[in-house]
Amino acid sequence: MSHDNAPAPAANFIRNIIDEQNAEGKWGGRVETRFPPEPNGYLHLGHAKSIFLNFGLARDYGGVCHLRFDDTNPEKEEQEYVDAITESVKWLGFDWGEHLYYASNYFDTMYACAEHLITAGHAYVDSLTAEEMREYRGTLTEKGKDSPYRSRSIEENLDLFRKMRAGEFPDGAHVLRAKIDMASPNINLRDPAIYRIKRAHHHNTGDKWCIYPMYTYAHPIEDAIEHITHSICTLEFEDQRPFYDWLLDKLAIGGFFSRPLPQQIEFARLNLTYVMLSKRKLIQLVEEKHVSGWDDPRMPTLVGARRRGYTPEGLRRFTDQIGVSKSDGWIDYSVFEACQRDVLNDSAPRRVAVLDPVKLVIDNYPEGQSEDCFAPNHPQQPELGKRAIPFSKELWIEREDFEETPPKGYFRLFPGNSVRLRYGYVVKCTGFDRDADGNIAAVHCEYLPDTKSGTPGADSVKVKGNIHWVSAAHAHDAEVRLYDRLFKTAQPGAETGNFLDDLNADSVKVIRAQLEPALKDAAPEASFQFERHGYFVADRVDTQPGAPVFNRTVTLKDSWVKVGS
Ligand code: ATP
Ligand code: MG
Repeated sequence: MSHDNAPAPAANFIRNIIDEQNAEGKWGGRVETRFPPEPNGYLHLGHAKSIFLNFGLARDYGGVCHLRFDDTNPEKEEQEYVDAITESVKWLGFDWGEHLYYASNYFDTMYACAEHLITAGHAYVDSLTAEEMREYRGTLTEKGKDSPYRSRSIEENLDLFRKMRAGEFPDGAHVLRAKIDMASPNINLRDPAIYRIKRAHHHNTGDKWCIYPMYTYAHPIEDAIEHITHSICTLEFEDQRPFYDWLLDKLAIGGFFSRPLPQQIEFARLNLTYVMLSKRKLIQLVEEKHVSGWDDPRMPTLVGARRRGYTPEGLRRFTDQIGVSKSDGWIDYSVFEACQRDVLNDSAPRRVAVLDPVKLVIDNYPEGQSEDCFAPNHPQQPELGKRAIPFSKELWIEREDFEETPPKGYFRLFPGNSVRLRYGYVVKCTGFDRDADGNIAAVHCEYLPDTKSGTPGADSVKVKGNIHWVSAAHAHDAEVRLYDRLFKTAQPGAETGNFLDDLNADSVKVIRAQLEPALKDAAPEASFQFERHGYFVADRVDTQPGAPVFNRTVTLKDSWVKVGS
């Protein structure tokens, strides 16, 4: 695993539970967790929280974490999702070894468990319509009432259930329900459905089954089959825990599983401002083409994050920082970005790129001449050395680094002012040209030959401005995509009820930039800091040898603070 050097994890309530159980010897020191995605969409940043938690616990306690595809629902699941999920978990640096499982491989056991429940008097076949069943269920304030079919004999239930399986009834004609308590204050214990008839092709089991287990029934059995110790899920399953325990207790009595039984533990899911973390809505963004696909760099999916240039290490830092708790809350997106920025600040080599180029002509520099200037690859890591950047008579500079009439406090180029060309010479602005439309076409200057950075006397001329540049004759022209947040409000849809209303119309700007020559051969997924601009990654899809396309991962500073919270 690539997270071996990570600092010791902070304590949290789940670790406390495990420590206490270890002290009592409950599991004999065994920690076996699982990450159980349903393959009905791509993983997102919320899943990353769950992955770091589950795989992190296994790593820290010398246990194992299973990757389990929770594929009990035949309708929306696809191999494409299975592949993408597998790749994303690996990308985060985790390895499940031999512990790759599919819930659908347990359908036979789940069926046997259901027959056992019937035989033991803990389940019955109900034939109410869906609407009647809703009526009988009661409400939060009103008890439910028993279905007239609740008193069917064991023989009749078994016979009907077997016929359900054999395909003798149409979809929806009957359901198998656990027989618990229709008067329970917890609605989840009012005889929850555990099997339904559904003629649907399953990606793994094909047409073998026409009845499928309900998620709340299947999940505890999956955990028990795999000898999971701690079954960690999000808070909305808290009210399901009594059923989880009821079911496994009955099946343990029936000899299916031995004790101690897996323990469900709930934690608060990740909610991030400016981000949508609902699979259903992410699917909508893709299908309605509001984004270019699941891996659009603006998507909060892990494939999108990867393409955006966010790093697994940045994600790890983020999940460590936000911790694990029992209370729901919102994390500001700037916290996520700050973690990514911190990691990239350490790891990304520095390069020069001019994103909004205008020519700077050095009138007293010889035509056709060029020389090398030397720039550090990382100012805090001198061991990474320096690289040569060619300097010549015509350079590209940022349009905003010149002003015809400078505002107060402007220290960059304007007629009569001098600045340092970073790693090069001090130049004095002598004038500018306009094009036919009146725009600035070129800026003119003269250089001071004795001021080259790194040479004796370079500092003899003091200037306040310091700007970056690339030599026009040597620059590489490339597409750069400037990404911003996909949504313009902190909680998309909160005002209007429709999250699409809050899409940020300026979430991507595609420009052509002038890059220093060293960037020309950037490998896909290589990250750099473009000095003064931010962190950029060579797009892993569109980058070709010698022709990189860059995505802006994150700016150098948080520009949303003023606008946002
Ligand atoms: P759905 O609502 O469609 O089931 P889901 O996001 O719960 O979607 P799963 O595939 O069931 O998707 O999730 C796999 C695991 O990831 C689950 O254990 C779930 O608890 C966890 N998970 C999902 N979303 C978040 C989130 N926002 N924060 C933390 N964990 C999450
Ligand atoms: Mg789920």
